Amino acid sequence: MQEFDPRLIALVMALRRQGITDARVLSAIERTPREMFVGEAFEHAAYDNSALPIACGQTISQPYVVAVSTIALEVNDSMRVLEIGTGSGYQAAVLAQLCRRVYSIERHRSLHLEAERRFKALRIPNIATKLGDGFAGWPEQAPFDRILLTAAVPSVPQALIEQLKPGGILVAPVGEQPDSNLESNCQLLTKMIRTETGLKKEALIPVVFVPMLPGVPQD
Ligand code: SAH
Repeated sequence: MQEFDPRLIALVMALRRQGITDARVLSAIERTPREMFVGEAFEHAAYDNSALPIACGQTISQPYVVAVSTIALEVNDSMRVLEIGTGSGYQAAVLAQLCRRVYSIERHRSLHLEAERRFKALRIPNIATKLGDGFAGWPEQAPFDRILLTAAVPSVPQALIEQLKPGGILVAPVGEQPDSNLESNCQLLTKMIRTETGLKKEALIPVVFVPMLPGVPQD
């Protein structure tokens, strides 16, 4: 039997207390060593149920938000999922255990390379990564069964909606960037289903994500 890090078990218990009951998602989180996805400076906090800073002024999402997003996507092992915002790669690593393949795009070269290195070290075979601007999606691999944005948008870019299969689910933090003077959350994690006539939307929880920005910076 696989031995789990006691800190991972504590994290899963904290998620249960917050109302996360999906056994498949909890077990994917339990099998993902979050300390591999945070920098050395934050290793001690890797299993806290909080967001943490990573390179390039970005953040690794809070495990609770990863859990809610993953559950909302309703993935199964036949599905291909597009993620915008690889960041540390943590969300992609959790998702990859529950679907056929994750296609993850990141605009910062250093984050993209570091995430690729982690996926190799952890021997995760079913994540394809790309350095690029997520606003364009990944047309060569479209259409996708599911799409997850892990950077905030005022509204979902049309190119991404077009790359989602009819009946497919897209989850995104929708809203403006938080004003740094305000403590309040000002985006809503939103679940959208592509229907014949447009998108059926359901607001899930308030969240704070970094913004989705255009272009690929020269870093
Ligand atoms: N999913 C990540 C959290 C990502 S934070 C994790 O599990 O760690 C959001 C990420 O989106 C950042 O790394 C940021 O650089 C990236 N991002 C922002 N705008 C983007 C765009 N247009 N295309 C691709 N990535 C983008």
